[in-house]
Amino acid sequence: MKLLEMKHVGKSFGELEVLKDISMEVEEGEVVAIIGPSGSGKSTLLRCATLLETMDKGVLKYCGEAATDNAEREATHYVSRQQLAQLKNNFGLVFQNFNLFPHYSVLKNVTDAPIHVQKRDRDEVYKEARELLRKVGLAEKENSYPGQLSGGQQQRVAIARALAMNPKMLFFDEPTSALDPEITAGILKVLRELAQEKMTMVIVTHEIAFARKVADRVIFMDSGVIVEQGKPEDVIDNPDNERTKAFLQKLS
Ligand code: ADP
Ligand code: MG
Repeated sequence: MKLLEMKHVGKSFGELEVLKDISMEVEEGEVVAIIGPSGSGKSTLLRCATLLETMDKGVLKYCGEAATDNAEREATHYVSRQQLAQLKNNFGLVFQNFNLFPHYSVLKNVTDAPIHVQKRDRDEVYKEARELLRKVGLAEKENSYPGQLSGGQQQRVAIARALAMNPKMLFFDEPTSALDPEITAGILKVLRELAQEKMTMVIVTHEIAFARKVADRVIFMDSGVIVEQGKPEDVIDNPDNERTKAFLQKLS
C-alpha cells in the first residue's frame, strides 16, 4: 500500500520557486533517503508532506486519502479540518533541532500528545512511553528536562515522542546534523533498528554511507526538483546525472 503520494507539488515563497513539480510515493515498509545540497527544498518538501506548510499546487495523499485543505485549489481533494487532524495522526516528524518542550520532563514530552491530542488511556500511554524510552536507551532519564540532556539524548527523546503517537510513517529532517559524529552513530543505530522493524520512514540526511546501507530508495534533490531517484547502489554508486555526481563528489 502507498502510505504517501505527492503529485505535481509546487511551492513558492514570494518569487522563489522552492518546489517544482515534485512527485513521489512511499510504500508501506519502505525507507526513503532524501539527499541534496543545502537550499534545494528538502525541508520544505518534508514540511509540505507533513502539513506544516501548505502547498501551492499539487495533491497530497495518505493511504490513498486526499490530505489537501485548500478547497479552491483542488475541489475534488478537499478534506475538512477535522479529517485533516485525523490524517496528521498517520505520521510523525523528527526535526534537526529536536524541538522538545523545555519546561516538560522527558516523560511528559513523550506522553503529552498521546494523552491530550489522541485522548488515549493515560496508564497505557505511560506504559508505552517507558518502553519506548527503554528502546532508545533513556529509561533512566524520564524525569530529566531537555536542558539536562546531551544533543544525542534529546534527539532520542524526540524519536520516542514521535513513536509514541503510533504513526504509520516517520519523517526525519537531518536528524543528526546538529550532533557530533560519535553521537550521530548512536542515532543512526536507532534508525537502523526502526528500519529492521519495517517502520516506514522518509529521512533527509547527509549521511551517505547510512543512506546506502539502510534506504530502499534514494532521492537526490537539487533546486526544487527530484533530479534522480532509485536504489542506493544506482543513485549513490552509479549516478546518471551530472548534478548528482558533483554533489556526491563534494561530500566524499
Ligand atoms: P533544504 O532543506 O534543502 O536546505 P529548504 O527547504 O530549507 O532547503 O529551503 C529551500 C529554499 O527555500 C531556500 O532558498 C530557503 O531560503 C527558502 N525558504 C525556506 N523556507 C522559507 C520561508 N518560510 N520563507 C521564505 N523562504 C524560505
Ligand atoms: Mg533543510
